[in-house]
Amino acid sequence: MEQLKGIAVSPGVVIGRVFVVDEERRRIPKRLVPAGQAAIEHERLWKALGAAIGELNLLSERTRGKFGHDAAEIFIAHVRMLSDATLTRPMHELIDNERVTAEFAVWRVFQDLMAQFAALPDPTIHTKIDDLRDLSMRVLRQLIGEHRSRLNTLNHQAVVVAPDLTPSQTAAFNRQHVLAFATDLGGKTSHTAIFARALGIPAVVGLNRLTELAVDGQDIIIDGDRGIVVLGPDEHVIDEYQSYMETRKTIQLSLGEIAKLPAVTTDGTPIKIVANIEFPEEIAQVLKFGGEGVGLYRTEYLYLTSDTEPTEEDHFIAYKKAVELSEGRLLTIRTVDLGADKYTQARAENPERNPFLGLRSIRYCLQNLGMFKTQLRALLRASHFGPIKVMFPLIMNTVEFRQARMLLNDAMEDLEEEGIPFDRTIETGMMVEVPAAAIMANTFAREAGFFSIGTNDLVQYTLAVDRTNERVANLFNPFHPAVIKMIRNVVRAADAGKIPVSCCGESAGDPDFALLLMGLGLRTLSVTSSSIPVLKRMVRSVSIQQCERLAKKALTLDSDTAIAVLCRDHARKIIPEAFEGRTDEHSPSA
Ligand code: PEP
Ligand code: MG
Repeated sequence: MEQLKGIAVSPGVVIGRVFVVDEERRRIPKRLVPAGQAAIEHERLWKALGAAIGELNLLSERTRGKFGHDAAEIFIAHVRMLSDATLTRPMHELIDNERVTAEFAVWRVFQDLMAQFAALPDPTIHTKIDDLRDLSMRVLRQLIGEHRSRLNTLNHQAVVVAPDLTPSQTAAFNRQHVLAFATDLGGKTSHTAIFARALGIPAVVGLNRLTELAVDGQDIIIDGDRGIVVLGPDEHVIDEYQSYMETRKTIQLSLGEIAKLPAVTTDGTPIKIVANIEFPEEIAQVLKFGGEGVGLYRTEYLYLTSDTEPTEEDHFIAYKKAVELSEGRLLTIRTVDLGADKYTQARAENPERNPFLGLRSIRYCLQNLGMFKTQLRALLRASHFGPIKVMFPLIMNTVEFRQARMLLNDAMEDLEEEGIPFDRTIETGMMVEVPAAAIMANTFAREAGFFSIGTNDLVQYTLAVDRTNERVANLFNPFHPAVIKMIRNVVRAADAGKIPVSCCGESAGDPDFALLLMGLGLRTLSVTSSSIPVLKRMVRSVSIQQCERLAKKALTLDSDTAIAVLCRDHARKIIPEAFEGRTDEHSPSA
């Protein structure tokens, strides 16, 4: 049994079986074969080596014809290596001694060799590592085929274990089969994590060596409440988790009862709790949890769930559905926020060096006007069927906001000429998620119809901490005094400009951070729908004066840890049950 601690990103506990997915083959899962099957694996290995050598011979002949003998030499050297028993013998030995598959044996032997080369002091040897990697991929392709996603072959219920998963891979999950997932890389506010919460799939990320340790088919526990993964749990631990799951169910049921009650503080201040969604279908769940509408609809998921670019009709159908399901409630639709960790398949083939600082979000839209206009037209057409607010993401200067607004006006003129109805009074606002916008909030409050503070990006850009990088996850702290002061500045600017302001970052769903936000003057919180019941209970148990006192105290402190502890202690007293799943330090067995 092995227990690993990672980052809890999507709540829930699952006991299941491992299914390893490693698209880049950084790791080949260690799969065991029955004792009698070793001969088959030896045969597969011989065949794969032979086929790879055949490929290399052909390649060297073609290269010699085109570029001469010297150029062909590299492939001849590769053939020599693959024919060398000092390389292949250990592979066969692994199959015999450890009863592993041929692909695992190939991968393991090449990995060891690359590690030995890397440890040598002579830098010219290091250049050979790429050759080895290339060679190992060539043999592995023979054994497991070209880029066929292993995820597509999952046809039973399992827990997906992977080095990393992209938001589009997560989007393509078959919910019938994927019970939970765990990855070596990743952070709490990455879009893969956000997506897991939207789908209600328990998940833990940032586990470093999990893929290396996990064996396909092995028992695994995913504890998405505490960020713990247990590989090969013993009976005692399974029993403990089963009883924890029962208790958890009872708490969830009692929270369900609160859905119909209003979110009003003990001194009568209404707090609007709305939700962040990725798909219109989620709105039913938002209402079930007691949400009052949608504060953020991330429309880029239309792009991530399909191989082809959505048409105006695809956009329109999705937005009209959202309008209908919302039945007149708040519906804030954000224009596409592609780039950074949300690449379409086509763009992923041409990666940027620094994607979070690159052609992302509104910048991408303003450089791809055809695509942007398609979305704006669809949004306007849907506005005819019920109220919509349009929100532009990642705005960092007034020109961007004005350009986006102008394009919306162009789309309005086009529709008018075509005689297509839409809501002329449609409101437009912006996300405040870049420090430049937070600092210039006064200026923006004169242009924008509303603000929504996106702490996921605001924290990332203010603290220079990549929101998807598990190595700096401990530094991603929304309680940092700089972040809190920026939020205060944005709220003051919104109040002075008499425009609504909300917060839609993931932290708004944490009771301790929400207390602070309310104390800073926020009255609308937009959160993952599953966080709504706990948040509502918290709101109904606290007075605004209490929140304001807390915020005032927090603003006098100079350390993020001190502010976090202050808020956590306060929230724990008000709503202890919210922290039962957040005692990060302990698993039921600890
Ligand atoms: C944010 O940045 O806080 C936000 C809500 O937007 P996203 O998570 O989609 O980047
Ligand atoms: Mg953002």
